[in-house]
Amino acid sequence: MNEIGELFFSGKAKDVYSHENKDYVIIKFRDDITAGDGEKKDNLKGKGECNSLISSKLFEILEENGLSTQYIELIEPGVILSKKLDMIPLEVILRNIATGSLIKKFPFREKQDINPPIIQMDFKNDEYHDPMLNDDIIIALEIAKKEELNQIRKITLKINAILSEFLKNVGVLLVDFKLEFGKDIMGNITLGDEISPDTCRFWNITTFETLDKDLFRKGEGDVMNVYREVCKLIVSEEDLKRWGIEPL
Ligand code: 5GP
Repeated sequence: MNEIGELFFSGKAKDVYSHENKDYVIIKFRDDITAGDGEKKDNLKGKGECNSLISSKLFEILEENGLSTQYIELIEPGVILSKKLDMIPLEVILRNIATGSLIKKFPFREKQDINPPIIQMDFKNDEYHDPMLNDDIIIALEIAKKEELNQIRKITLKINAILSEFLKNVGVLLVDFKLEFGKDIMGNITLGDEISPDTCRFWNITTFETLDKDLFRKGEGDVMNVYREVCKLIVSEEDLKRWGIEPL
């Protein structure tokens, strides 16, 4: 029913396969982890499965709240059936708290609250090293139209509100995150890619401890242990039962 077809795209941490239904794809989450424009690399056993469960749960929450996403179903840990999208080469970054590259580039204080949040758009392009864009450049490069950018901003703010609230209730602070959008077969702007500790900054809400890929970027702590902890906070035993998966 969900037979894996041919591999037609391989990213830094995921592979995309065709599906017998040409409007669908099968996304396989790999254990590879990279940082610094792909310069730092490793392979963390279990990371792909872990991120696929976290991403499935967060995409399900967004769908329940009426947002259109690529997610259809978790086939098995590490493997997600998704709608095929024509991806828009933007990294849409939302920041609730100043850290990371923002404080390197601008005079924000580390951990400074940013309210209303900042939405930043970077060009998803390895050759040009993902430079920050503005609306005029995006429109002139024909990456997206003005109305599409407005729609993407509106959806991103909504995603922030929904996920910040959910994560707060499991003890996680949503510091910042990166989204990728595409167009479905009808041309509708749809959330794609993944939402996981690889693409977000998650901090423990009371201690501000790092619970995401920054541990790998900085070479601190047991990254996989922390990813597993985050997975247990976000994915409930009930979710696992519903997906037909053994307890973690
Ligand atoms: P920063 O610009 O501070 O490095 O990252 C801001 C947020 O966007 C972080 O949550 C980070 O994980 C995410 N992010 C930015 N660029 C990328 C990228 O190229 N790949 C991934 N996986 N996440 C990114």
